[in-house]
Amino acid sequence: MRRFFAAALCAVLACGLTACAQGGEHSAEFYAMDTTMSVTAYGNGAKNAVQKAQTEIDRLESQLSRTRGDSVVSRLNAGSGSQTVGPEVSSLLSIAEEYSAATSGAFDITIAPLVSAWGFTTDHYQVPDQRELDELVTHVGSSHIHLGGESEVSLDNDTQIDLGGIAKGYASDCVEAILAKNGVESAKVELGGNIYVRGSKPDGNAWRVGIQDPNNSDGFVGILSLTDGFAVTSGGYQRYFEQDGKRYHHIIDPATGYPAESGLISVTVVAPGNEEETESCPGHGTMCDAFSTALFVMGEEKAVEFWRSGTYAFQMILVTEDGRVLVTDGLGDEFEQEDGGGYAYETISRSPS
Ligand code: ADP
Ligand code: MG
Repeated sequence: MRRFFAAALCAVLACGLTACAQGGEHSAEFYAMDTTMSVTAYGNGAKNAVQKAQTEIDRLESQLSRTRGDSVVSRLNAGSGSQTVGPEVSSLLSIAEEYSAATSGAFDITIAPLVSAWGFTTDHYQVPDQRELDELVTHVGSSHIHLGGESEVSLDNDTQIDLGGIAKGYASDCVEAILAKNGVESAKVELGGNIYVRGSKPDGNAWRVGIQDPNNSDGFVGILSLTDGFAVTSGGYQRYFEQDGKRYHHIIDPATGYPAESGLISVTVVAPGNEEETESCPGHGTMCDAFSTALFVMGEEKAVEFWRSGTYAFQMILVTEDGRVLVTDGLGDEFEQEDGGGYAYETISRSPS
């Protein structure tokens, strides 16, 4: 059996030396939440902000990880009856529930037992047998989570939660709030496939975010010019194993219990930075993370329908198995296609053409 684990799905492209050197750059690279991360900030307050951001991500991981025995999430998964989780986890669970409802269950944090059955929590990968999956999917669904007042939560028997599809996005919202509090106006944050850029580059230009070609780890399907925004990519090519010549990746369709096979091979969701006054976590970073996972499960048709409904303000870039790159018209000139990959590019507009 072969297994694969790649880090970057989209990446902020390096700035030129002079641009990077301006305005006092401070940067940290580290490994957290099962992926490589980097936070780079410029100007006054940058050093302090970068340190605080890393501390905050460590704190979040210690609370939200399912593989750390002492986290709030592990405690909840191991316990029974009603438990107090605190306001932070409580608000994250309610937003997860909202996104689950909004995506008709395509995003669902109760996929935890399925993720485990496939071996993605322990790296002991295996294809579970059908009877096991049939049983496990009966414990999946938001209706098995009960949120009460005073941060009380209870899970039905055999239901467990996994925040892997939302935690890095949430962390990016929290990092944004830290940068704002420390007066940082220019920064780039890469938490695995979750990107947040604050303001513009120190030289005044937009940040350039490369959207990885799912079929070629050295190539990009396009470059996104982004100023103050989030861009989150989910792809089946990021974490997977192969057995008997078939590939099994880590994004699970809650309806079947199998890795989603929707015809999409990569989904990038883009949204603006959070409003200064409401600078909050959870915010747009959390939303982008949840939706990139959800749209990957939903497939092209439902994803486009969901975007067109306009219920949530975001833009997206979909890459299909049959070689198309679909870009919503709200990205306009901000998306520059890279022609080397042999993809056909299409623009998606609000009303079907
Ligand atoms: P990554 O975490 O690799 O950047 P995603 O944001 O798409 O990618 O999240 C995938 C992770 O989310 C999985 O490892 C698993 O923990 C969890 N997950 C898998 N399928 C779903 C789903 N349908 N809904 C919510 N979370 C999911
Ligand atoms: Mg996600």
